[in-house]
Amino acid sequence: MSETFAARAAALDTADELADLRKLFTLDDGVYLDGNSLGALPRHVPARMQEVLTREWGELRIRSWDESGWWTAPERIGDRIAPLVGAAAGQIVVGDSTSVNVFKAVVAASRLAPEGRDEILVDATTFPTDGYIAESAARMTGHRLVPVAPGDVPGAVGPRTAVALLNHVDFRTGRLHDLPGLTATVHAAGGLAVWDLCHSAGALPVGLDAHGVDLAVGCTYKYLNGGPGSPAYLYVAERHQAAFDSPLPGWTSHADPFAMDPGYAPADGSVRGRVGTPDILSMLALEAALDVWDGVTVDAVRAKSLALTDFFLECVGAYAPEGVVVPVTPQAHAERGSQVSLRCVDAGITEPVMRALIARGVVGDLRRPDVLRFGFTPLYVGFADVERAARVLGEVLSEVSGRALDGVLGEV
Ligand SMILES: *Cc1c(COP(=O)(O)O)cnc(C)c1O
Repeated sequence: MSETFAARAAALDTADELADLRKLFTLDDGVYLDGNSLGALPRHVPARMQEVLTREWGELRIRSWDESGWWTAPERIGDRIAPLVGAAAGQIVVGDSTSVNVFKAVVAASRLAPEGRDEILVDATTFPTDGYIAESAARMTGHRLVPVAPGDVPGAVGPRTAVALLNHVDFRTGRLHDLPGLTATVHAAGGLAVWDLCHSAGALPVGLDAHGVDLAVGCTYKYLNGGPGSPAYLYVAERHQAAFDSPLPGWTSHADPFAMDPGYAPADGSVRGRVGTPDILSMLALEAALDVWDGVTVDAVRAKSLALTDFFLECVGAYAPEGVVVPVTPQAHAERGSQVSLRCVDAGITEPVMRALIARGVVGDLRRPDVLRFGFTPLYVGFADVERAARVLGEVLSEVSGRALDGVLGEV
């Protein structure tokens, strides 16, 4: 059994046109399946940061705002992210955390919505920060917050809907939601659709422009490998930019910031989404990290991602003892992001299993109480990694659960 899967993995790796990209990253001989939480370090980033620190900061100091392009980094890097999420240039600005950008987007969207609408819908299964911030934004702007599962959005939108804040991929289950369909549903009800792309950008096509998304946010330290705490981004569709009224109109979003004018006049374009002085060091690490995408298409990444997760599900099905874990990530490609989540039937084994996996070089993570999460970053995860991760998982599960692998152990 393991020989068959190992042989298939080897063939898949040989045919993989993205396989060489792994060399661009600093990795060890373990299997890193946590790139959906913190992407791996692209090898060339430390040298670039050394240059930023010694030359741009150390020697040029204040001159770097202009001469090293620091001042315009937020919109310049936004334009580098744009093709990865299907946006034309000039609509994305980088800066602040995802949490802060959720706030900007939800409040600004509520201000763009038709007069008299008093409801903000939020994905009830969302990553908590989005929900907390949507609640505060709703309270501040006098809206009623309506938590709703994404699948129930069609029945929940209506003439009171101002904004719907939805996740493209669920962080816990890895379920991919129907961005084109739900955006159209929200629009048909006259509301605005705000999407959180944290778990989709860099892993699968998003098509922000093509699907008429109004506003979007996302983080850059997951599949975009920008580094711990690297700044997030905000997308404001061009058609909304002139009326985009930021709830955090900091001085760097001013039309003429160095006029130091006591009166606020917003800049045009994506710059309007800026707030304060950009976090240059993190931002320039992100900019360098994006080099790994040169010549890589998101479609190729998506194809490999699906092949990796298909193969993982198949291997887990074969290697794991019967009835100990159950996949919660959908089988259907149209409903699957780039991670596989397995629910432990006995929640009590979740932590010991992940601890044992990490000790054996297979790094995933868990979401309490009972979900084991495995993220597949196609730029640096290969099929042999997948086979090994599933095989080690099978061994760990049988040890921790005390159940033998039905029929499999004999062949291993
Ligand atoms: C990762 C993630 C975040 C992270 O927000 P931060 O402000 O960067 O901490 C927010 N929302 C979702 C859906 C995420 O997956």
